[in-house]
Amino acid sequence: MKKVIIIKYAELNTKKDNIDFFIKILRKNIQNTLNDDTKKITYDHGRMFIESTEDDFEDLLKKVKKVFGIHEINIAYKLDTTDFDTIKDTLADLVKDADFNTFKVATKRSDKSYPLDSMEISKKLGGVVLRTLNDKGVTVDVHNPEVTINVEVRRGQSYIYFERVKGLGGYPVGSLGKGLLMLSGGIDSPVAGYLALKRGVRIEAIYFESPPHTSEDAKNKVLKLAKKLSEYSGYVKIHVINFTEIQETILKNAPHDYLITLMRRMMYRITERVAYKNNCKCIVNGESIGQVASQTLTSMSCINAVTNMPVIRPVACLDKNDIIDIAKDIDTYKISIEPFEDCCTIFVPKHPVINPDVRSCEEYEANVDYDALVKKAVETSTVIKVENNSNTQIKEDFKDLF
Ligand code: ATP
Ligand code: MG
Repeated sequence: MKKVIIIKYAELNTKKDNIDFFIKILRKNIQNTLNDDTKKITYDHGRMFIESTEDDFEDLLKKVKKVFGIHEINIAYKLDTTDFDTIKDTLADLVKDADFNTFKVATKRSDKSYPLDSMEISKKLGGVVLRTLNDKGVTVDVHNPEVTINVEVRRGQSYIYFERVKGLGGYPVGSLGKGLLMLSGGIDSPVAGYLALKRGVRIEAIYFESPPHTSEDAKNKVLKLAKKLSEYSGYVKIHVINFTEIQETILKNAPHDYLITLMRRMMYRITERVAYKNNCKCIVNGESIGQVASQTLTSMSCINAVTNMPVIRPVACLDKNDIIDIAKDIDTYKISIEPFEDCCTIFVPKHPVINPDVRSCEEYEANVDYDALVKKAVETSTVIKVENNSNTQIKEDFKDLF
């Protein structure tokens, strides 16, 4: 018997006028994830069907579970007929070794010309189950059954399924534009990226390195994190910025309590430019209110003052423990805690300012032509593309990509 994966997209159904747009992107994302053009995917406004076999079924399911925009996944048996006797025989066969005490049958009949209505189908099939499991004391419980047997009768086909797997929810990646994620090697920013992807925002990443103060290992850690995120989005492009000259210049020219504030203002300026250049509509980062000195509200607004682009901070209001829980769920945690320095940790002042003010920042920034340095950092950036389905772990395309 054929197995089929049924995909339901409840939240997308609230997008009444745009539903086709969302479903098309979802279908494309699923097709890309499966990486198999031969797989047949059909759909209507309510569900999508992926044909599978016993052999590839587990693999398909594993991949589909990582696609945003899916509310529920059902593993169904498909019949290429709506003949009622065939449905009855199939159901009897499927439940004969089952181990449950109570059940109900829930029927959906999209073919309204079918001779039986949903209630009649459910009743008759309930009778089949009772007769099949007659000696096991099985009963019907319509309110709180152990097992719900779902039957769908469509034009020319019918489906029977028991299992419901929760999907990740959210919107299909790319359906709500693109954002530029400031991706460090820490715990917070990969989680921020994951949450933005979940809202349908495709992510490109930007990583600031300061060689020789930061190592290749530190960069590789960021690429590994991007690879994890690519499991949800197919691929992630990472813009790598050489930040050494800017950091060393700040270190020489500004009071130490302002080092981090000024450094982060430069990061934002560069991020904004790279975002514009690559059609990203917002900056996404892992800032969380109060976590460190640069994330007090005063610090954040002083840093934020250099850009007009929306800055989305998906973990802004989460406790660290909650961020860690998500990091563990998406398997980035163990990469994030690998002990490599990043460009922020190597220049940490003893007493960073907690309430910086914009005027002081502007005063310190006037000493040097930072604009030229920012421009240079953007122009010399390199791009690395990390792909989920590629066996070569990291593929480098560099800047002629644009
Ligand atoms: P994380 O755990 O994500 O590193 P954090 O708690 O260490 O965050 P900060 O170092 O203050 O906090 O950085 C705040 C945010 O700024 C990070 O979440 C990330 O989005 C961005 N960021 C910091 N360092 C870098 C970097 N080297 N490259 C790109 N983005 C960075
Ligand atoms: Mg960090």
